This record gives sequence, C-alpha cells and structure tokens, in this order.
Amino acid sequence: MLVARLATSLLLVCSACGGTSAPDRPDSGSPVDAPPPDADPFAQPRATADQPDDEPDAYQVHLLYVVPADRAGVATLDVDGTLRRAIAAADGWLADRTDGLHLRFDRAAGLVDVTYVQLADDERTFAAGIDAGGPRGIRARLEATLHTTFDDPNKMYLVYYDGLALGTCGEAPRPGRFPVQYIGGVWSTTMIDTAAPAGATTVRLLEPATLNVPTPPFAAQLGTEVVTVTAIAGTTATLAAPLAAAHPALELLAPANRPPDCRSNPWSSDGVAWTYAVFVGLHEIMHALGIVDDAAPDRAPPPTAGGHLAATSPGGLDDLMYQGPANGRCGDPAPTPAQVRCQLDPGRRNYFNTPAGSGVVDLARSVFIDPTPAGAVPPPGW
Ligand SMILES: [Zn+2]
Repeated sequence: MLVARLATSLLLVCSACGGTSAPDRPDSGSPVDAPPPDADPFAQPRATADQPDDEPDAYQVHLLYVVPADRAGVATLDVDGTLRRAIAAADGWLADRTDGLHLRFDRAAGLVDVTYVQLADDERTFAAGIDAGGPRGIRARLEATLHTTFDDPNKMYLVYYDGLALGTCGEAPRPGRFPVQYIGGVWSTTMIDTAAPAGATTVRLLEPATLNVPTPPFAAQLGTEVVTVTAIAGTTATLAAPLAAAHPALELLAPANRPPDCRSNPWSSDGVAWTYAVFVGLHEIMHALGIVDDAAPDRAPPPTAGGHLAATSPGGLDDLMYQGPANGRCGDPAPTPAQVRCQLDPGRRNYFNTPAGSGVVDLARSVFIDPTPAGAVPPPGW
C-alpha cells in the first residue's frame, strides 16, 4: 500500500480536442480517412471484453477499468484517454531509466487494450465489504470477482478501480496477478455501519482504528452534516451535539483534516508528464512482479509493509519502491521523464539489474519486459 501525500491541483483532460476535419493537404499522401491531426490517440471506444492480442503468447499486463454500479454513468477514464496516457507516461519513464526497456502491455491493433467491467454493487457496499471480508479485503474481493473472466495464465491484470476504497490509493499482492489502483481511495475516513436517527449523540463506526481515523476531538463530515467527534470507544463515536438529520448506514464519516483524497491527484495530461496517479499504477505492478524481494538488502523493516525499500536505500525517499514514515517523493509531478525525481533502484542491488546470483527478484530479468531478456523468468509462483 501507499502512504498519503499532498495532492497538487487538478489538470483538465482533453478527450476529443474539438477538431472535426483536417485541412486539405493534397501533397501530404495521407489516406483520406486519416484522423484529424489533433485527434487524441489515447481516447478510444469502450471495450467490454479483452480484444485480440497483438502478441497472443507473450506475458503482458492487461488493463481493467472496474466501475461500481452507481458510478456507471460518470466513469469515463477508459474512453477519454486518461488510463492510456498514464500507462504511456509510466512506460516512458521506465524506458528513460533503463536504456530503453519497456513493460509489455496488452495491445490490440497497437493500442493499449483496456477492458471495462461494471460491478453489481454500489461503491459504498463494495468498500464496506458487507457480504465478505471487511474493508481491508477490497482487493481480494475485486480479484475474486474478476478472475473467473480474466484468467489468461500469461497476463497480469492491472485494475483501475473507479470507486470508493477506505485507507488506500493502491494495493497489490507480491507476487500476484491483480494489482489495484484505487482511484476513489480516501484516507482516515470510515463509515457508519448502522443507520443513525436524528437526535442521536453516538454513531457506530466501521473499523475506526484500522482505518486510522484521527484521535478525537475532530471535526468531520457525516454525509452533508458537519459533526464534531469528541470520543471513540471501540467502534462507538460520541458526538458533541445531537445529529440534526437522520443518516443511512454506510454514510461516510470524513475527518476535515484528512490527507487529500486519491481522486484529487492529477493524471498525466499528455502521456509523457509524470504524476502521482501515474506513479501508483507502476508501483503496484512492481509488487505483483514480486518486487521488492524479502531478500533485497535495503528492504524496509517492519512496521512498513513488506515489498518496500527503506529510506536508507541508495534511492532514499526517491525510490519507486520506498515506503516508510516519511513521505516518499515519487509522486512529485514532472513534465518529462528526465525531470522526474523518482528513481529505479539506482544502487542496482534491490530489484533492477541486481548482481548475478543474488537471487532477488529482478525486473531486468522479468518475462514482462519487452523485448524479452535472455534467461527471462516469470514472477515467483507463476
Ligand atoms: Zn507498495
């Protein structure tokens, strides 16, 4: 998982950019049905099934855009080009840091293939995990929902989940097949798990300790009502004043001073610029590849979750796989790969171009690298 960091301003994303016809250029040699010069190559029609693969037998990362039922009308990151721009920016940075290596993404007719999947549940029900697992199990529930349809043994499925997730912007198994970026992730936020009537002075919260709800007293939004929480005992929160209105179960209790919501992080505007949202997807893919190996010399000690590097690694807070008490800097935006401060194991001893015989999982020897390196191996357990 990823620690919170401050978001910067939102960028507007242009999908079709307006132009309707190319100027008449009789000498250009372009076919008459060529798209106008300002068409956005990242914006494509929606696909609800995996399209025919350009490289059918190769290991590859396939994108899934998963949308809860109540966001079906507004979630458009597959068709407006946002997700393909994010992948292009992430892969451009990787090539810049590796003398031209790429991750192999599933492409159809040359374009990154994104499959749209709509869930039966609304986003709060799915985030709460009412019917299975609890809120921390959201990635496992996504995998359980998706893997019966998306089961190519040579594919990793990067899930862009466009719905609410409590306490995280990204999560991945290490190794595994379904890394997830939570577009609608929120920090230090929980829900009331039973309805609260008007006049109530206590509400029951979903896992306030696990979800890092602040220590009272704090101000928060409960739905549209502003409340002050004065105490939390177990799962019961005491309020400074009786509720003015009734609130249904699963309404969010969002502290006023929480870190910025994941959805406020900007995406790449042009398929080159790097942003926090670009960083998250690439970081989670690394985990699914088995990175950072438990045998890596600079791995972060507990309580940092496994799979990360410590601040004392050669890349410090700038390493793609850093996580720890200090905020990492890999989400800092930059307009070109060369200007990105995020680093890829610059000491070459933890997960990229590691010494022969060191035995740690090495991105440079992964079957997901394109072109496939000599002696490439799949992630452990594949
Ligand atoms: Zn991580």
